[in-house]
This record gives sequence, structure tokens and C-alpha cells, in this order.
Amino acid sequence: MTHTMNLTLPVSIIGTILMLNLAGCGATPLRSTVDTDYDVIVIGSGMGGLSAAAHLAVDKKKVLVLEQHFKVGGCTSSFVRGDYAFDTALHEMSIGGGHGFVRDLMARAGVLDKVTMIRAPSLGRSVFPDAEILQAEGVEEFQSILIEKWPSEEAGIRAYFQLLEQMSNEVSELRGIFMGNPLKALFTKMAIPLRQRTLAKYYKSTLQEVLDEYFVDDRLKAAVAQFWVYHGPPPSEQWAIIYMVAQYSYVKNGGWQFLGSSSSLAEAYADSIREKGGTIMTDTLVTKIIVENGKVHGVETADGQRFSSRYVVSNADPFQTFYKLVGEDKTPRKVIKQLHEIKPSTSLAGVYLGLDVPAAYWGIDDYEIFYNHSWDADEMFDAMVNARYDEGVVSITFYSNLPDDFYAPPDKAAIVLHTYSDYDYWSDDEATYEKQKEHMMSSLIDVAENIMPGLSEHIVYKEGMTPKTIHHYTMNYKGAPYGMDFNVEQRDRFEIQTPIAGLYMAGSWAFPSHAVSMAQVSGFMAAQMIVKEDE
Ligand SMILES: Cc1cc2nc3c(=O)[nH]c(=O)nc-3n(C[C@H](O)[C@H](O)[C@H](O)COP(=O)(O)OP(=O)(O)OC[C@H]3O[C@@H](n4cnc5c(N)ncnc54)[C@H](O)[C@@H]3O)c2cc1C
Repeated sequence: MTHTMNLTLPVSIIGTILMLNLAGCGATPLRSTVDTDYDVIVIGSGMGGLSAAAHLAVDKKKVLVLEQHFKVGGCTSSFVRGDYAFDTALHEMSIGGGHGFVRDLMARAGVLDKVTMIRAPSLGRSVFPDAEILQAEGVEEFQSILIEKWPSEEAGIRAYFQLLEQMSNEVSELRGIFMGNPLKALFTKMAIPLRQRTLAKYYKSTLQEVLDEYFVDDRLKAAVAQFWVYHGPPPSEQWAIIYMVAQYSYVKNGGWQFLGSSSSLAEAYADSIREKGGTIMTDTLVTKIIVENGKVHGVETADGQRFSSRYVVSNADPFQTFYKLVGEDKTPRKVIKQLHEIKPSTSLAGVYLGLDVPAAYWGIDDYEIFYNHSWDADEMFDAMVNARYDEGVVSITFYSNLPDDFYAPPDKAAIVLHTYSDYDYWSDDEATYEKQKEHMMSSLIDVAENIMPGLSEHIVYKEGMTPKTIHHYTMNYKGAPYGMDFNVEQRDRFEIQTPIAGLYMAGSWAFPSHAVSMAQVSGFMAAQMIVKEDE
């Protein structure tokens, strides 16, 4: 249950500054005089890794992608069970404001014409204890819904959406930073305090602080803040900028899926990499990044193979990358310090359901329903991470309501229920773990019964997922679905260029942000930096 932030504005100011520093100023050329197997080895085939590899291949670099799982995509994946298919993660992807920076990147990487993008029918419906709010697409449409319900707050509602637009525009103005022109990037950075004043004003604000400034009624605040569940922490902790920019992107430009699920996107990247001469090896776990004299020289895999390269891009989380693959002894102290301070994003649990009736049986044509047990996000978040799922918020995604017969036959339905969940809650003891999973699944199904009475009688396929499932398939620390937690204190993501020469990061933990969209941006940036360094 997450989302993507707007792609025109992948930015935190400090992150921007870091990126600028990396975008060409001061990078040490790493050219090796020794023959290597590859120019670049990419560890992991999540969206960050695939994007990095595809853009490097576009720029004629010889790339090798090594993926431990049997298929590419990481979180961006799907699986089939009989008549039903399930996306493992993606609800909706943002393409960003304007005409969509992410879409431009997909075109550059050679994947846009390999996929069919599907616009979600709406952004969702919020069910609260005594009210329902349609999270409508279209700024005017959504404003009208809110104004009709809270007429006395019309001025605040209009002002809030103006703020969102202004914020998005200001972040979009920073787009040049991502295109790799160091001089332009430096100028853009220096001008931020003068030119992007709204961004600077709210830079250290929580979402709750912004809501309190614009609205009076707590229920209106909750309705406007519903998408907090797409990023993790409740509004009282969530960084306002990421929320506002993402919300504006979704309301203005909609949310997107891919015909045949998000796997189609991952496979399109893989095809493009291969077409351009790149190599992808699945079922291949990287166990070591070879670092000598502070420079990367290649990797080793679990089956004892060694591959040499001048650069390595790690799409694995930074804990694995540095503690395990590089080794603590070879990791600079400042990175160790940062790792000690990072709070990972709270993980997710859920259940995939195949039904013998379509959602229309209950009169439901929504793609996404958010079932909130309260108007108080703090209370709900606390309940979820303490396994009191029936007091939290459950997102119910009706994949088979998309215009795509991939998920289920027309007379059936494939739906997914998600809740937040604390990785540390889940037992290592198998019997206890199974009990916990059963409790989670039955609680979520009970919640969904509120809008789909008799649901249990129509379940013909059921499978649970927990933070341990996410960890198993992606190896992300504590099953973190979005890299670092999006609280206001953690505005900066991990730097793309690491202090180890030739080692780069790409993906949710790295700059600029998490989500299927931003992981692609991160991969593109890593590729740009390597190409520049290699010039
Ligand atoms: C349940 C769920 C719902 C989500 N919903 C949305 C949504 O609606 N919209 C959205 O935009 N985002 C959503 N997200 C977030 C989004 O899916 C992720 O942010 C994004 O896909 C992560 O991409 P990544 O590049 O960080 O790589 P990851 O997906 O984390 O993949 C990392 C890859 O590296 C591989 N790897 C790791 N270590 C090694 C190693 N040592 N050797 C070889 N391979 C290795 C892993 O196997 C994996 O394939 C969701 C996430 C989850 C879990």
C-alpha cells in the first residue's frame, strides 16, 4: 500500500545538494587499465537496478545484472495461482506532474513501447466510521467533494490545493538537476532559497503541521491525508513535502498500472537490457563486492563465480550492501554511522484472495478502497503495528476491476488486502508464525466483510504475505517496502554515489525516493553519474 511520489519532483533539498555534488563535481575517474568482464555489474533487478542497467546499456556500457530470485522485478512482480493472478506490490504508479518525467525515462530506456499503461479508474474511496469520501481524480473534482461536505472550510480547501500546485511547480523547476549538467545543477541548487520559497518554508514540516495550518475539522484533515498510507508513517510524523507532491501528482495525473501487471514493466526492462547487449542472470546471489584499495573490482556469487567490473551498482539495501557484501572493515566510518541511524520503513502484511464472484456482486466498481476504523491515523497506525488489524486501516485493491483480464476471469475477482505490520512482531518459530499469519488474514477478511458481506463464502484461493515474505523475496532489511522511513527527520535518502570508488546505489533506499517510479529515477541517475565519471 504505497505510492509513488511525483516524478517531476524527485527532491529533498539536502538530497539535491548531495546529488549535485555527485553529478560531476569532484568525482574521481576510475578507469581501469586492466581488462574487466564488464563495465558495470548491477546487484539486484528491482526497479532501481533494472533502470540503471537499461540506461547504462543505452549508453553502450557492457552490463551484467545479477538477481538472486528466479525472476526479475524485486517488489515489482506478480504471480499466478490457477485462475487468478496477483501483483505483489504495485497498486498505482505515479508518472509525475507535467507530461511525466518517469514516462520520459521509460522511453529513453526503451521500455515505453513494450508496455501498455492502464490508468486506474479512480484514486480510491475512503471509508471512515460515519462517512465515505471519493478520492477523486482532478483537482476541481476533489475540491468540490470536500467543499460540499465541509462548506465552511472552502477557503482553506482551495488554499491547500494552491499550495500543492505551487509546491509541485517548485519541485518541477529543479528537474534540470536530474539530467546531469553539473553547472546547471549547481546554479539550480544555489537559487533554491530564493526561487523555491514554498518548498523552503515547509521543508521541515510534518504533514500534520500543514493540515493544521489549512483546516479546522479533524475529519477533513483525515480525508485529505488518506494517502498517508501510501508512504508509511502517520501524518504526525510524515514528511509534508513528499506527501504534498505525491498527492498533487495523483490527483492531477492519476495512478497507473500495466497491462499484465507490474511484471510487464520489469520484463520490458529486462528485454531492453538484453536487446542492447546486456546480460541478466537470475538465481544468482551476490555474496561479496570485491573492494581493494578503496575501489570496487567486481563481485563474487554464492556458487563461487567471480565477475570483474569497473563499477558496481547495488540495488540491495544499504545494510546488506555494506555490512555483508563490502564488509564492515572496508566500509567508511561515516557510512557505518549513517546505517546506525537509519529507521527502515514499516513493513506490510496482507492477503491475496481469489473469489468465485466478481466485485460487481457487491456493486463495487472501485479499484481501491481504504477502510479506516477511525478518523485518527496515529491510533490506527499504533493498532496495526501491534497486530490489532481490526482497529487500523486496510487497503483493499480490486485488481480484477482494472480493464485487464490478466487477474481473473470476468465472473471472478482477484483482490488484495494490505495493512502495516512490524517486522519484529513475526516469530521465527514456524508454528507461531503460521498462527500469527492466520490471525492477520482472518482479521483483514473480517474487515473486508464490512463492505463485502459474505466474502468468506466466496473465497476459493487465499495466500498470506508478511514482512518476512517481503524480506525473503527482496532481501530488504526488516522487510522494508519503501527503503528508509518517511518521517520528517529522514528527509535525505542514501547517497547514490558511495564513498567507495566505483560503488553506486540505486533503488528505494537511495536518492531521490521510494516507489516504482522513483526507483526508476534513482537507477537513471546512477547510470548518468557512471557515464559521466567514465568520460
Ligand atoms: C506490498 C507493497 C506494495 C507497494 N505498493 C506500491 C505502489 O502502489 N506504488 C508504488 O509506486 N510503489 C509501491 N511499493 C513500493 C515499490 O514496490 C518499491 O519501492 C520498489 O519496487 C522498490 O524497488 P527497488 O529498486 O528498491 O528494488 P527492490 O524491489 O527492493 O528489489 C531489490 C532486488 O535486489 C535483489 N537482491 C537483493 N540482494 C541481492 C543479492 N545479494 N544478490 C542478488 N540479488 C539481490 C532482490 O532479490 C530484488 O530483486 C510497494 C511495495 C510493497 C512491498
